[in-house]
Amino acid sequence: MAPFPSELCPCGSTILYTQCCGPYHTGAAIAPNAEALMRSRYTAYVLGNADYLKATWHPSRFPPQFHLDDQPHTQWLGLKVKRYELSEDSHALVEFIARYKINGRAHRLHEVSRFVREGGRWLYLSGEIDGDV
Ligand SMILES: [Zn+2]
Repeated sequence: MAPFPSELCPCGSTILYTQCCGPYHTGAAIAPNAEALMRSRYTAYVLGNADYLKATWHPSRFPPQFHLDDQPHTQWLGLKVKRYELSEDSHALVEFIARYKINGRAHRLHEVSRFVREGGRWLYLSGEIDGDV
């Protein structure tokens, strides 16, 4: 379910959803860099948009058992991008902290994600989770 047009994007950009991650979700635009893609994937988790997550996952790394329905009690609280590094124009790292609650208990996900650009599109490859920070 998409936010109302007047709502700020869940990715924490302080921009309206319709001017931030929304166009990437609808296909009206493609994420220009790995950080924008990572933000739009976070927002897809918030909104339960499994199709977008699959579409932006490198096919070789997409987990066959992936189902958002496995995480029905996850409540996403916020995203903070700590680092963004581009290398060779086609590879990038994004380090972020995402906060969420499961059954009322707060957690922090600290991950360094790797992205690759293929055919002009950035795709999520994999992530290393540092756990609680
Ligand atoms: Zn956004």
